[in-house]
Amino acid sequence: MTTLHEVKDANSKIAKEYVNEVFETVIARNPFESEFHQAAKEIFDSLIPVFIKHPHYIDQNILERMVEPERVISFRVPWIDDQGKVQVNRGFRVQFNSAIGPYKGGVRFHPSVNAGIIKFLGFEQIFKNSLTGLPIGGGKGGADFDPKGKSDGEIMRFTQSFMTELYRYIGPDIDVPAGDIGVGAREIGFMYGQYKRIRGGFEAGVLTGKGLGYGGSLARTEATGYGTVYFVEEMLKDRGQSFKGSTVVVSGSGNVSIYAMEKAMQLGAKVVACSDSNGYIYDQNGINLDTVKRLKEVERKRIKEYVAEHPGALYFEGCSGIWSIPCDIALPCATQNEIDEAAAKILVANGVIAVGEGANMPSTLDAIDVFLKNKVLFGPAKAANAGGVAVSALEMSQNSMRLSWTFDEVDAKLHKIMENIYRNCVKAADEYGHPGNLVVGANIAGFLRVADAMIVQGVI
Ligand code: GLU
Repeated sequence: MTTLHEVKDANSKIAKEYVNEVFETVIARNPFESEFHQAAKEIFDSLIPVFIKHPHYIDQNILERMVEPERVISFRVPWIDDQGKVQVNRGFRVQFNSAIGPYKGGVRFHPSVNAGIIKFLGFEQIFKNSLTGLPIGGGKGGADFDPKGKSDGEIMRFTQSFMTELYRYIGPDIDVPAGDIGVGAREIGFMYGQYKRIRGGFEAGVLTGKGLGYGGSLARTEATGYGTVYFVEEMLKDRGQSFKGSTVVVSGSGNVSIYAMEKAMQLGAKVVACSDSNGYIYDQNGINLDTVKRLKEVERKRIKEYVAEHPGALYFEGCSGIWSIPCDIALPCATQNEIDEAAAKILVANGVIAVGEGANMPSTLDAIDVFLKNKVLFGPAKAANAGGVAVSALEMSQNSMRLSWTFDEVDAKLHKIMENIYRNCVKAADEYGHPGNLVVGANIAGFLRVADAMIVQGVI
C-alpha cells in the first residue's frame, strides 16, 4: 500500500519537474532576457508548495500560460531634438495579464530599457497588483530614451510621439499606464494631453499619476515610498521593533526614495544616506530632505550638489558603496539588482535588521538568500512597493466617481492596504510551510488570486 509520505514525495517530484520544465521553456522562448529569467525563477520556485498541495494547477498548465504575456507591443518613437536632428527610440508596452482587471503598470524611460526589462517588470506587476486586492491586471511599458540632460521641449516632443503610437492600445477599461523611472508628473501631463487630443474626449482614468488639477489623486506622489515604510513598520512591529531611533539608508533620490525618507523620518528614524545613478551622499547628522527635494524635484540636479550646501556631508562616486554604510534598516529604492550578494553580506555584517524593497527587484536572488538565511526581515518588492500602484487604482476609482478624496482619506486607505498585504503574505507563507519567508508568501498570495480567476474564465 502506498503511504501518505510516498504520495507527498511523488507530488513534490512532479511539482518540481513541472516548474523546471516551464522554466526551461521560458529560457528557450526568451533568450538573453536575464532579468525576466530572474523574476520568473524567483516566482516559480516559490510556487512549488502550491503545486504540491493543489496539483490541479499543473493539470491546467497555469504557469506556462501566466509567464507568456497576453500581448507584447513594440513600436518606433521618432522625434526631433533641439538641434533639429531626427532621433529614433524604441517603445514598448507589455500587456501581461488581464484576468482580474485592466492591464495596469508604469512606463519607464531609461536607456537600459529593452523587451526583457519590460517583461520582468510586467511579470512582477501581475503579482504585485493582485496583492493590493484591487481589480487591476498586470502591464508595463517604456522606452530606451534617456531623459537625463534633455530640455522640456525635447521631453515633450518625445513623450507626444510615444503616446501617438501607444494611444491605440490603452483606455480606462483596457490598459492604464502610469509613471516609473524617468516618468513623473511632467511626462504624465504631456502623455495625457496628447492622448486627449487624439481621442477627442476627457478620459481621466486612462493614466494615473496625473496632476491634481486634472484628475490626479492626493497622496499618489507619496504612495510608493510611504507604502514601503508602512510595510516595513508592520514587519518590525511583529518583532517588537520600530523606526524610532533607527539609522536608515535609502538608495535613490527619485519619487520612491524621497517619500520613503520622508515617512521614515516622520516615524523617528535618522536617514543618513541616499544616492543617484552617479554616486551617493552620506550625512551622519541625518539628511536634509528639503535640500534633496529641491535639488531633485525642482532643479533636476545631481545629488552631488548636496554637499556644497551641507559641508558636514560626504559624496562618493559610484552607487554600490552605499550598502557599506552601517544601518539598522535598508530601503533600496533605486533600481533592479542594486544589492548583490557581496552588498547583502556587508549589510548583514553591519547588523541590518530589516530590508524593504522600494524599487522593483533591487536584490539579486543570491542577495535575497543571504538576507533570509541570516533572519533579516525582508520585504520583497512586489509586496513592499505595491503602495504606488494601489493608490493608482484608487485614482482610477476617484476618476470613475468624478470626485476626489482628501489626502488623509487616501493615506488611511493606503495604510490599510499595506497592512493587509503584509498579513496576507505572512498567512500564505505559514500555510505553505515557509513561516516568515515573505518572498514565498507574496508570490503565493499574488499567484492564487490571478490563477483562480484565469481558471474560471476558461483556457485563456
Ligand atoms: N511603476 C510603479 C510600479 O512599479 C507604479 C505603477 C502604477 O502606478 O501603475 O508599481
